Amino acid sequence: MRIPFIAGNWKMYMTRAEAKDLVEGLLTALANVRDVEVAVCPPFTALDCVSRLVANSRIALGAQNCYWEDKGAFTGEVAAPLLKEIGCKYCIVGHSERRQYFGETNETVRKRILALYKHGILPILCIGETLKEREKGQTEKVVLTQLRECLQNLPPERVVKTTVAYEPVWAIGTGKTATPQQAQEVHALIRAEVVRMYGKDVAEGVRIQYGGSVKPDNIKELMDQEDIDGALVGGASLKVDSFAPIVRFAE
Ligand code: PEP
Repeated sequence: MRIPFIAGNWKMYMTRAEAKDLVEGLLTALANVRDVEVAVCPPFTALDCVSRLVANSRIALGAQNCYWEDKGAFTGEVAAPLLKEIGCKYCIVGHSERRQYFGETNETVRKRILALYKHGILPILCIGETLKEREKGQTEKVVLTQLRECLQNLPPERVVKTTVAYEPVWAIGTGKTATPQQAQEVHALIRAEVVRMYGKDVAEGVRIQYGGSVKPDNIKELMDQEDIDGALVGGASLKVDSFAPIVRFAE
């Protein structure tokens, strides 16, 4: 069985002082949580401080992006070995904001995934359609093309530990959530595609998170769906009062 996985994407929020307050609050609020994996993904500048705070706790550390070369003259980039050194277990790749504002493509996402695999960091691969694409009936085509191109020809033993985050772009930061049925429909398509690419065993292991305006009052219904294994949470991950109840959805 897949262990539920809830991750917080802090985006470009949180000074180190704010990060410290948030993590200390989460450590208390989540102290006795079992059977759920939790990660927080702070901006690069807060990784070190958060890494120290969550060491030996149930909260794992994730980054929001990485570059694909190990080192070199790539001003402003951060490499996977540097993320590993600082204690990252996970790294988000291909977030729609990176695709939209920073020219991320399926090809560059795949390169980042390879770099993460090489250094033992688990990718959280984001895919999802825009509102226009959904309205034109292109959801399946868009999402599965992203999935295929980002995950093609990779080692199956790594793919099985990769998380896919289905994040309809129209639901991110908008307050509009996909209905549990809409999300489940796409999650099932994603899992079926992983079966075609890597076989049933790999597909059964891959966790598929839903992302897009997840809140304490909609998480339970989403998590009740067969192929929804967790959530990638943006806005609601910035406060203990909203992130902790999402993690504790089962109670
Ligand atoms: C995200 O940025 O991955 C996200 C899902 O954001 P929000 O929860 O704010 O919609």
